[in-house]
Amino acid sequence: MVANTDGDSVPFFLHDLGEQECASVIRAMADPLLTTGPKVLAFETRFAQILGAEHCVALSSCTAALHLALESLGIGPGDEVIVPGVTFAATALAVLHAGAVPVIVDVADETGLIDLTLIEAAVSQRTRAVIPVHLYGQLVDMSSLRRIADSLGLLVIEDAAHCIEGQHAGVRPGTLSEAACFSFFATKNLTSGEGGALVTQSPTRAQHVRLARNHGMNRTSSDRMRDGYQPWDIATPGWKYNMSDLQASMLLPQLDRLLENSARRQERAREYDALLSAIPGVRIPLRCADVHALHLYTVRVPESRRPSVMRRFRKERIGFTVNYAPLHTITCLSSYRRVPDDLPVSTRIGLQTLSLPFYPSMPFGHIHTVVEILQDELSRGESLGGEEGA
Ligand SMILES: *Cc1c(COP(=O)(O)O)cnc(C)c1O
Repeated sequence: MVANTDGDSVPFFLHDLGEQECASVIRAMADPLLTTGPKVLAFETRFAQILGAEHCVALSSCTAALHLALESLGIGPGDEVIVPGVTFAATALAVLHAGAVPVIVDVADETGLIDLTLIEAAVSQRTRAVIPVHLYGQLVDMSSLRRIADSLGLLVIEDAAHCIEGQHAGVRPGTLSEAACFSFFATKNLTSGEGGALVTQSPTRAQHVRLARNHGMNRTSSDRMRDGYQPWDIATPGWKYNMSDLQASMLLPQLDRLLENSARRQERAREYDALLSAIPGVRIPLRCADVHALHLYTVRVPESRRPSVMRRFRKERIGFTVNYAPLHTITCLSSYRRVPDDLPVSTRIGLQTLSLPFYPSMPFGHIHTVVEILQDELSRGESLGGEEGA
């Protein structure tokens, strides 16, 4: 199966779901259960194994995983949670879902990852946790973060939506935190259209999340299918955050391609790196992790030039996105900072960053096309004295 490429001449992203996923979903459809059952369990077992983690609970999204991670740690009204300025809104929205208050902290200029040196100053009496985001697929230095968090009495929840495959100094997501949260949204490295997972080393936390994902019911549809009807109860109200067997059946075959796809991402990133390094004005964020999951390939271009580059990409039908407009520029999150003007790096990255088309099967010819158009547009800017032309 080839995804429909109508629209952009160089698509931003194409999934690689194919015959194996089709066959797997059809098998899951033949089972009367459809909802959370043996496919979900099989996925959870394999995903935990791949990460070297103890427990995985599959959920409806990464946002649900972040919410339940916070909730399972008793974080709620009156509490504060530190989040980085450069991330998707969901990192902070999950804190609001839990009833707590996000506190936005600035990021390091070279990487865009949370600036570890700023955490202590952002902590108050109310601060309970920090959510590092493994931005673009690069793991935060978790050993250092863990040390800082322990010294300040903070819990750590990883937003690993971009980072299944990543490693830093031998550390993988989910191993040095209370919980790591993953996304299987349509454009992520693993996808079931929508979906997510929480990974943890704690059996009690995993058990809590397992109940909370299904209203808090002590019996599930899967139990009923196996054992017949039994009375059930809800001791603590939960949410409807479970993953279906259909979603899990789509994810399972993709696990076999994780390594192969990661290698294909590396090859394409190296091609971009080589071509872009010759272009003045283009900056590639530092990649220093042992293994970078390369969820996104982003560059930074001069603020004054980005609008015209975006117009040109739109005109030439080159797909692109901005990852991200920083959290404090989003209306409903704009007040969650300690003091005005304390997020200069996030602000600057928000104005300069541009994510280029990138996916494991992307033709190398498309990489060349993107770079040529970017180079041409930036050189026009130079001849106009760096200002925007008409
Ligand atoms: C995609 C994403 C999320 C949200 O994932 P969902 O599965 O859509 O809830 C959270 N954080 C980051 C950094 C993301 O990129």
